[in-house]
Amino acid sequence: MSELVYDYVVIGGGSGGLASARRASGWYNAKVALVEASPRLGGTCVNVGCVPKKVMWNTASIAESLRDAKSYGFDVTNNSFDWFKLKEKRDAYIARLNGIYEKNLGNDKVDYLKGFASLVNNNTVKVQNGDVVNEIKAKNILITVGGRPIIPKIPGADLGISSDGFFELENQPKRVAVIGTGYIGVELAGIFHALGSEVTIFSRTKQILRSFDPIIKDTLLKEMQSVGVNFVFDSDVREISQESFEASPKKVKYLSNGEEGQKEFDCVVWAVGREPNIDGLNLKAAGVTTKDNGYIVVDEYQNTSAAGIYALGDVCGVAELTPVAIAAGRKLSDRLFGPEHLRSSKLDYNNIPTVVFSHPTAGTIGLNEDAARRTYGDENIKIYTSRFVNMWYAMLDHKEPTAYKLVCAGKEEKVVGMHIIGRGSDEILQGFSVAIKMGATKADFDSAVAIHPTASEELVSYNAIITDSTYKIYKDQWKNIKTKL
Ligand SMILES: Cc1cc2nc3c(=O)[nH]c(=O)nc-3n(C[C@H](O)[C@H](O)[C@H](O)COP(=O)(O)OP(=O)(O)OC[C@H]3O[C@@H](n4cnc5c(N)ncnc54)[C@H](O)[C@@H]3O)c2cc1C
Repeated sequence: MSELVYDYVVIGGGSGGLASARRASGWYNAKVALVEASPRLGGTCVNVGCVPKKVMWNTASIAESLRDAKSYGFDVTNNSFDWFKLKEKRDAYIARLNGIYEKNLGNDKVDYLKGFASLVNNNTVKVQNGDVVNEIKAKNILITVGGRPIIPKIPGADLGISSDGFFELENQPKRVAVIGTGYIGVELAGIFHALGSEVTIFSRTKQILRSFDPIIKDTLLKEMQSVGVNFVFDSDVREISQESFEASPKKVKYLSNGEEGQKEFDCVVWAVGREPNIDGLNLKAAGVTTKDNGYIVVDEYQNTSAAGIYALGDVCGVAELTPVAIAAGRKLSDRLFGPEHLRSSKLDYNNIPTVVFSHPTAGTIGLNEDAARRTYGDENIKIYTSRFVNMWYAMLDHKEPTAYKLVCAGKEEKVVGMHIIGRGSDEILQGFSVAIKMGATKADFDSAVAIHPTASEELVSYNAIITDSTYKIYKDQWKNIKTKL
């Protein structure tokens, strides 16, 4: 066993860890080591999250465009789709990214240590790589070990796959069950459906995307139903079973509204949530406190309960998104190793924009309507909504919906929430997030000149966004006149 001494040891080479380590070493010349247990650098986002998911979403969008092309006069025949070929290309792309991450660590002079890290005390980390064990001393230790999918403990649960398993699929399954209705479940279901699988979603409630504003969750649910995604509502999956031969279907037994049911699928995907990756970290040895569900407790500066140990990203269970982990990681390094004026740097967790890569995409920032009413009081909230059909669908029989909501608070009508669903919402939200972060009011939105013809112009056209009460009165006329021409 050898002993190494560092200013900063980062446990976990995912979004947060890589960003923090590179900032500390590359910008501030701190002596930094990063420990990664998996053979692939990059963490969840690069290997089994955002990146391969977006490749699959792009693939699904191409399938949809090929279908739409007919209505625009093209004679397009899509004879086949080769899932395996795409997987090979996707895997190769990710392997290239893994290599780039390693090169970047080298460029920034971060020592990359392969192995599984655990805490010995609050300034010592043990790194085990096979039979080789090293102990590293550090003044500061960052825990960014991320999370993993939850697989419930029911009979036959292992016959299902998680989102990690989705990226290992070599062939497209014909009949798919997705259990869970959070953003990951909805996104994977949308990809399968757009590519031609028959999809059934099992929901514990009558909803999807439970924590989202109704304008998003209701609009998306209706749209998914209208294009043929099946739902089993109020359901509790009890068991998965399969005959001994491999190709036989997986039987999903469930209870729905007290009635027992059974359905057969070629693939069952668990999307029932994620949990922190803290097994074997030996957090207690260093005095790091967790919540009952295992997430590490931190203050607004990412300090844990142990002096000199910090945590951020998914392992803290707040705003589990790549840019959040990256921003928190960089801010922490600014605070620990940066110049004097950055010594109180911390990430503002308010107004974090996020997108669901559903079909159509949805974007959200700030408070949903319920939360805003609770925070500011009913009388201080004004809601503006707009529902229309994007001009893309003018040539098509199927009219995918677009729906926008602005949640405004106080006399000045400060925009405290924006919830949008419809083609292009993924790209629309980012710019508006700057305005909202700066405290824009409805009047500021209205003072911007629209870009025509776009869908997002509805968000700045004061005569297009109408309050909910007006919408109720003119609902039917609205549907007709709002088709963008
Ligand atoms: C299917 C899916 C889709 C997603 N899509 C999006 C999206 O579109 N946009 C978005 O912003 N976010 C998305 N996310 C979330 C995003 O991937 C995470 O929020 C982000 O990766 C969290 O970064 P992190 O640094 O906290 O952890 P991770 O990126 O998970 O990194 C943790 C790293 O720590 C390593 N590790 C764990 N334990 C140890 C140990 N003891 N010793 C050494 N190393 C260890 C792991 O191997 C891993 O590499 C998605 C997630 C999933 C699952």
